[in-house]
Amino acid sequence: AAPLLEVKHLKKYFNTPKGMLHAVDDVSFSIEKGRTMGVVGESGCGKSTLGRTIIHLQDSTDGQIFFEGKDITRVKKKELHRINEEMQIVFQDPFSSLNPRMTVEEVIAEPLEISHRFKRGEIQDETERIMELVGIDERLRHSYPHELDGGRRQRVGIGRALALNPKFIVCDEPVSALDVSIQAQVLNLLQDLQEKSGITYMFVTHDLSVVKHISNNICVMYLGQLVETASSGELFAHP
Ligand code: ADP
Ligand code: ADP
Repeated sequence: AAPLLEVKHLKKYFNTPKGMLHAVDDVSFSIEKGRTMGVVGESGCGKSTLGRTIIHLQDSTDGQIFFEGKDITRVKKKELHRINEEMQIVFQDPFSSLNPRMTVEEVIAEPLEISHRFKRGEIQDETERIMELVGIDERLRHSYPHELDGGRRQRVGIGRALALNPKFIVCDEPVSALDVSIQAQVLNLLQDLQEKSGITYMFVTHDLSVVKHISNNICVMYLGQLVETASSGELFAHP
């Protein structure tokens, strides 16, 4: 099968007072549909920048990003809008990315409203369906993010990312801010969602133990480059 995502020679440079910083420096890889690619590496190696650049939260400096066979670095604005709905991100700290003045229900409904593709009643139904899918009790629908514990907040963050039925989700340290006991629950949720709807993940983390079980392939990133790619089996095989 053709890969869902194929990245070729991707570069993202930042102009800094100290000169040009090669945050992502000639990165190439592909991910097949329904699979998970883990990207591990120490803080500052470029993992987040790679994820954000792929889903167009920021422009790339050079290279190509093929999504379902089409180079999305070169598509028109209008089509990019649709592609943006199909590629989502889950952040480390949902509190920093969720509007503190929006309720759980509003946080999840907002992407549906912005897309202008749904009627009021559909948005209501869809929001309820997503809350159930991510395991948020419906009695919490009028709660604010700061009233929830970290695990529930992250479930809301995941629900928002899921709202438009994306095909690809960048998980950027999604459990790193959570208690260890909660980490497993959130990882299980992400895995369940993948089994149910075939979502493809790029899973970014500094913590190898987090991606060990969830990833099919793991890339090691160092100073902006992918320095090693292996299947999880290979990486953890005993010699
Ligand atoms: P990681 O996710 O692996 O911790 P990042 O992608 O956040 O790494 O950062 C990679 C490098 O790029 C770091 O040196 C960081 O300081 C730098 N960087 C990230 N975003 C910007 C930006 N907007 N402007 C300048 N430098 C940035
Ligand atoms: P993370 O490691 O999770 O990406 P950071 O603290 O590195 O978080 O980055 C938070 C935000 O600051 C991001 O939007 C990133 O692009 C930006 N950023 C990171 N490093 C720099 C930098 N050296 N100069 C300017 N912006 C930066």
